[in-house]
Amino acid sequence: MTSYLISKNTEKCYGCRACEQICPRQAIVIHENDEGFLYPTLLEDKCVKCGLCTQVCPYDSPSSVNIPKRAVAAQYKDSTALLSSSSGGLFSALADYVLSRSGYVAGCVYDESFRAVHVLTNQKEMVEKMRGSKYVQSDLCNTYTRIQDLLKEGLLVLFTGTPCQVDGLHLFLGKKYDNLLTVDLICHGVPSPKLFELYLKSESEKKGKISDIKFRDKQRNGWCSQGSITYLNKTKTISPYNNSYYNFYYLQNNISRMSCYSCKYSSKERVGDLTVGDYWNITEDFPKLDISAGFSAVLINTDKGERMFAEISSQLHIYGTELDAVVRGNGNLYTPSLMPENRKNIYSRIFNEGYDSVAKKYCEYQYIRPFIRKYMPKGLKKILKKVLR
Ligand SMILES: Cc1cc2nc3c(=O)[nH]c(=O)nc-3n(C[C@H](O)[C@H](O)[C@H](O)COP(=O)(O)OP(=O)(O)OC[C@H]3O[C@@H](n4cnc5c(N)ncnc54)[C@H](O)[C@@H]3O)c2cc1C
Ligand code: SF4
Ligand code: SF4
Repeated sequence: MTSYLISKNTEKCYGCRACEQICPRQAIVIHENDEGFLYPTLLEDKCVKCGLCTQVCPYDSPSSVNIPKRAVAAQYKDSTALLSSSSGGLFSALADYVLSRSGYVAGCVYDESFRAVHVLTNQKEMVEKMRGSKYVQSDLCNTYTRIQDLLKEGLLVLFTGTPCQVDGLHLFLGKKYDNLLTVDLICHGVPSPKLFELYLKSESEKKGKISDIKFRDKQRNGWCSQGSITYLNKTKTISPYNNSYYNFYYLQNNISRMSCYSCKYSSKERVGDLTVGDYWNITEDFPKLDISAGFSAVLINTDKGERMFAEISSQLHIYGTELDAVVRGNGNLYTPSLMPENRKNIYSRIFNEGYDSVAKKYCEYQYIRPFIRKYMPKGLKKILKKVLR
């Protein structure tokens, strides 16, 4: 039996659903906790104590990890795919290759109510919806089980997700498949789907029904942390991350799942065949490179990852770099995100006071922040910060 299922300690579960999927007796069901994250519950009367749930749990079981063999900066040459990707479009380059080999791709899309969910498909239009980072925890649903079925049929499958999701898949499968390629993202945490829903509700009440949301939109300022919301009435707002309560607190790590603050995957040791992330500090090593469309940092972790990367390399602009150069620019390759002090009660505040009320105080704080910084004495600053945030 898994530690979370016994202890109910929310830090000890990544929410991957491997335990639920493996249980032969349907003795594990998934529910939303009071912060809106998914957690498993054990139905004691159905459990036969077979221990399968512990074996597949990425929190409880040792992970099979690899030290990256090498690191590169890479950018997909397909400009349409690149512009709708968060970084250098590495995911799309791999997915296009897998589709061209009649394979399947598993990744995160928004469903019709903007819930982030993992889907498994061989359709190009669906794969295009996977492009772009969704800064909210994705629900894996029954993706692991469906991947296992395809792997057994001998089909090529690409799985992309957060490292805990990749590890959950490996443990669920329980054996290595030559026809599976896994890509883990450099990851600093995921907020709750319920909070994301409140954020979207608040935006749509103010400006109209939403037709698209991007956490990273390259349209105005290229590769950066600007996001956009498009409304059904065809208006679109592009704004920096600190223009919204949700985005600001996400990037400051205030609203992540509890397990993210002790994440065992925040390390140079990787679970996927390949690791991809933003190569934010690329200009330190390549000062003359035009980086406006974005670059991915790619860690090649296994022989299989090396082979797959070789297959797509003619489609990429590639610059060799040092692993340590990528690690320097990405704190989550050596340590988990720090939990800020207000994480303790942030969710209860939002759910008790209402998203709009909390967000309004945040916006007022952002508005007067420059004046506070410049003119107010230190002691008074601290008090004001506490009141307004
Ligand atoms: C929650 C989250 C946190 C991240 N944190 C960092 C970070 O701290 N530092 C860093 O360098 N990079 C981070 N990334 C990775 C980065 O934002 C890009 O996703 C990555 O560089 C791949 O970009 P791309 O251009 O190759 O492809 P893109 O097209 O941008 O990547 C899309 C891929 O991401 C997957 N994906 C999107 N949203 C989710 C989700 N919610 N859960 C699981 N998979 C998802 C899709 O399935 C698809 O495979 C994070 C990504 C996510 C989703
Ligand atoms: S981490 Fe995954 S397998 Fe472990 S308890 Fe949570 S949902 Fe179950
Ligand atoms: S920070 Fe770690 S635990 Fe949290 S979603 Fe990312 S990989 Fe999973």
